[in-house]
Amino acid sequence: MPAYNPPLRDMRFVLQELLQVDQMFAVLPPHAGLDADTIHQVLEEGGKFAAGVVFPLNQVGDREGCRFDPATGSVTTPTGFRDAYRQFVDAGWPSLACDPAFGGQGLPAVLNNALYDMLNAANQAWTMYPGLSHGAYECLHAHGTPEQKALYLPKLVSGEWTGTMCLTEPHCGTDLGLLKTRAVARSDGSYRLSGGKIFISAGEHDMAANIVHLVLARLPDAPPGTRGISLFVVPKFLPDANGAPGARNAIHCGAIEHKLGIHGNATCQMNLDDATGWLVGEPHRGLNAMFVMMNAARLGVGMQSLGLTELAYQNAAAYARERQQGRSLTGAKHEDKPADPILVHPDVRRMLLTARAYAEGGRAFSSYVALMIDCEQHHPDPATRQQASDEVALLTPIAKAFLTDNAWIACSDALQVFGGHGYIAEWGMEQYLRDARINMIYEGTNTIQSLDLLARKVLSDNGAKLRQFGGKVRAFAEAHAADPRMAEFLVPLADLGEKLGKLTMEIGMKATQDRDEIGAAAVPYLRVAGHWMFAYFFARMAQLALDKAAGGDDFYRAKLSVARFYFARLLPETAMLIRQARSGAASLMAMDEDWF
Ligand SMILES: Cc1cc2nc3c(=O)[nH]c(=O)nc-3n(C[C@H](O)[C@H](O)[C@H](O)COP(=O)(O)OP(=O)(O)OC[C@H]3O[C@@H](n4cnc5c(N)ncnc54)[C@H](O)[C@@H]3O)c2cc1C
Repeated sequence: MPAYNPPLRDMRFVLQELLQVDQMFAVLPPHAGLDADTIHQVLEEGGKFAAGVVFPLNQVGDREGCRFDPATGSVTTPTGFRDAYRQFVDAGWPSLACDPAFGGQGLPAVLNNALYDMLNAANQAWTMYPGLSHGAYECLHAHGTPEQKALYLPKLVSGEWTGTMCLTEPHCGTDLGLLKTRAVARSDGSYRLSGGKIFISAGEHDMAANIVHLVLARLPDAPPGTRGISLFVVPKFLPDANGAPGARNAIHCGAIEHKLGIHGNATCQMNLDDATGWLVGEPHRGLNAMFVMMNAARLGVGMQSLGLTELAYQNAAAYARERQQGRSLTGAKHEDKPADPILVHPDVRRMLLTARAYAEGGRAFSSYVALMIDCEQHHPDPATRQQASDEVALLTPIAKAFLTDNAWIACSDALQVFGGHGYIAEWGMEQYLRDARINMIYEGTNTIQSLDLLARKVLSDNGAKLRQFGGKVRAFAEAHAADPRMAEFLVPLADLGEKLGKLTMEIGMKATQDRDEIGAAAVPYLRVAGHWMFAYFFARMAQLALDKAAGGDDFYRAKLSVARFYFARLLPETAMLIRQARSGAASLMAMDEDWF
């Protein structure tokens, strides 16, 4: 049977020692009073909830999936999902990082991020219900009218109602400029929406009293393409005069998808037949407004994969300690047993350490991004806020794509540790691999994240944001250059930074002649950038661990081992990736379309 232990020690290390969140909180007015004890308490209670309430439903949810009743259009979630959600709401978890003006607890995003690290590990499919609601909350908080905020936010904050994002249509996923759902103004200020959306996560379910759909649609006078998309709030039940769920709105689930993974989350076809909605933000600026939700969701998807990486690692490590096969190449290590545990074999260790390094690197990196979100929102100095905002923009596509690609590798390696037992359902590993696959696709495929990083975040400002981050890396390296113990980390870090800079310039130059050069280089480019950032965080973690490991504390000794493994075994992938990125578009574009 699989198990999950919330990685509280590592979270404390990342938040308190690596990122020193207390120092940041001290200068962010809403979080100034937040102390380490409160942080620990929240993480501990969140961990209990994730491991004790949500994790036991993970395999059940996968086996049962959601059930759709065509007669009523209703969706029943797997056994226990509804009850767990009720407990989640009763305990106040949805409100953790929400605005106190709407009933929230006002805690920082970085803490919410840590909560979702654990919830996603425990059960990604279940966690998507509250996760999407939080995105809807953020979007309405940023772009809703005062009336919309007063009506919807308290319900989303409490978790009484859940939220969705309705973008995708059968003929358009990546290219939202093609979307056809129509919205026509009524005289009372509302709109009539008609069209069909597909693949809507949590579009219909039995867990909450109402569902707040955020729908992209076109007004009659909309210009073509992405500049003609508007955003609407379309509740499943129209709120009555008291704000309670009233008449049923004409947005219905027509079917749910049967899919590879995340069976416990309903992926719905949603039909809008003159459904009533209200404009959010300005006409034709809907994609802009939706980006608030999409950006939050992108980091959220990265967190889904971080959770799976941790879960897969923990279970594979436990299995490798128990499973006995063969003898160590250097002679029996457990002579009292018929064979040694597979943990003695170097390649089993490679697979385990790969998963562990991706989990620990991902936790450090994603927590940093979340802390920058807190800084972007609350720092009193506008220049610091802008700098944090630039970093969040640069790092978000990496958090989405690098962490999700890594989870796919990690879950596959962790499954391999189980041999054939990993391939059968009993041990849970095949579920984690299946669940991990969607994270590379939705919220903008990883290809689209790579294009966003290279074209929009890096080349469009001639690498300014990248250089800004590079300044932090250099400052750290200079601060520790005199410590000879740090050379094994700082030399490859500096080397990769230099190569990334050159690669960026080279692609930028080629792109002035041929834009396909960007598309050809983007995916390996993002992975190189991701490794550079992980290398920076592993170097920082190693620096902290070096002194403390000498004192004999196993946590720091292990941290140092994982950092060394990362530099020795995972970072060298960048040599190949750089060659791929430099190889250009020619080998991809030479084939005639007819030859495929
Ligand atoms: C389980 C599940 C849940 C989902 N949940 C939601 C949800 O809640 N709300 C929602 O609105 N949507 C949701 N989606 C939809 C998801 O976001 C889309 O599937 C995704 O954005 C890709 O769109 P598509 O499937 O139409 O693929 P396409 O856009 O057709 O892409 C096909 C392939 O072409 C590539 N491609 C496309 N355009 C380009 C380009 N310009 N350059 C390079 N490569 C390109 C893509 O990377 C991909 O590999 C969900 C999907 C699934 C499967």
